Amino acid sequence: MQNIKAIGFDLFNTLITMEFQALKDALTRLTGSLRENGFNIEHTDFVKAHSEAVLEFLEQTKRDGKESHNRFWISTALAKLGHEVSPDNPHISTAVDTYFSAFIQYAKLIPGTKEMLTTLKKNYPIGLLSNFTHPPAASQIMAELNLESFFDVVLISGDLGYRKPHLSVFEELIDQLGVEKEEVAFVGDDPEADVAGALRAGLQPVWTTYVRDNNITPAPGVVGKGQTDPDPTVPRISNWEDLLSLFDLQ
Ligand SMILES: [Mg+2]
Repeated sequence: MQNIKAIGFDLFNTLITMEFQALKDALTRLTGSLRENGFNIEHTDFVKAHSEAVLEFLEQTKRDGKESHNRFWISTALAKLGHEVSPDNPHISTAVDTYFSAFIQYAKLIPGTKEMLTTLKKNYPIGLLSNFTHPPAASQIMAELNLESFFDVVLISGDLGYRKPHLSVFEELIDQLGVEKEEVAFVGDDPEADVAGALRAGLQPVWTTYVRDNNITPAPGVVGKGQTDPDPTVPRISNWEDLLSLFDLQ
């Protein structure tokens, strides 16, 4: 890659994977928390209503690029089951944190990630740009995995109000990295959010297929289904050696 002065990364399925039971466990914890706080719901009914609500909100997000939040999904699911409750109800907030405790527990770094970041950091400023609805959980995951010190810039869609592939989030990344857009390499697994988004914003994308190539169950809710692969002119990596060699750091 030519004239790179900074590197941006996606988080899930790029630097971090999630053990396969994370979503199931998260949903069990979510229902449990709501039941403890007096909502008389059956787990199966709630999970069905919740997944319908998630789909509705994601459709909206696809149209306008705006990030959503779990509290709306949960209150919508509860409304479908006859429990009218404000998304700002403290029991919903507790349920959101309980839900994400599973993701914090099951998040794992892809092997060699810290060594790769250490090498890159000697040569480039590094940014993180993650589509994640609930920023406190993203911060906790990064803290648990000791990732924070590697990044000069950390941007989470839940804070920005928009998510990748929206142009504004890439512009914020470029701004905060303090370089020109064409000087930024952006590494991510999602063909639309990461690769097409970065391309449209004028960055140089790198498509990582580590998760796909190793048959790892993707972290939930972050990979769009039925996407086509990026154009073959986009560099594709399957491991960190591939990435370092793109920057002649091998
Ligand atoms: Mg990803």
